[in-house]
Amino acid sequence: MPEYVIVGNSAGGIGAAEAIRQVDQHGSITIISDEPYAAYSRPAISEVLAHERAPEHIEYRPRDFYRRLRIQAILGTPAEHIDFTAHTVRLGDGRSVHWDRLAVITHISPRSRGER
Ligand SMILES: Cc1cc2nc3c(=O)[nH]c(=O)nc-3n(C[C@H](O)[C@H](O)[C@H](O)COP(=O)(O)OP(=O)(O)OC[C@H]3O[C@@H](n4cnc5c(N)ncnc54)[C@H](O)[C@@H]3O)c2cc1C
Repeated sequence: MPEYVIVGNSAGGIGAAEAIRQVDQHGSITIISDEPYAAYSRPAISEVLAHERAPEHIEYRPRDFYRRLRIQAILGTPAEHIDFTAHTVRLGDGRSVHWDRLAVITHISPRSRGER
């Protein structure tokens, strides 16, 4: 069974995990994030700062999301090094996580045409 590892636990990362689960019910999925939180909406941060919404109300998915999709979430731990020969990601706490399929989704930003 393939071991899927996703670095990044935001819109892109959880979308990738959901897409994997649609086609593979059996492989293991690990999400790694340097932030210690469940995936949340960055655009809604201003509403939290304005006390219009509680932090838990800007999470993208219900609390059981990771358990329901059988995702191992390693949160609050940065990915520091990728070894493409050994197929491992080394984490900030010294652990190594093996991958068969790796997605690094640590930030996608829309760009204007011609912008580099
Ligand atoms: C304040 C704010 C307001 C915004 N408003 C809008 C808006 O109104 N409309 C809009 O379209 N977009 C908006 N955006 C942009 C939108 O949030 C991003 O386009 C979107 O979040 C990108 O998602 P992503 O999953 O690619 O990356 P991100 O949301 O940036 O997530 C990156 C993930 O990677 C993790 N990560 C990064 N480096 C490491 C590492 N070394 N090891 C482990 N984990 C790592 C982070 O912890 C995070 O989980 C806003 C962004 C901000 C900050």
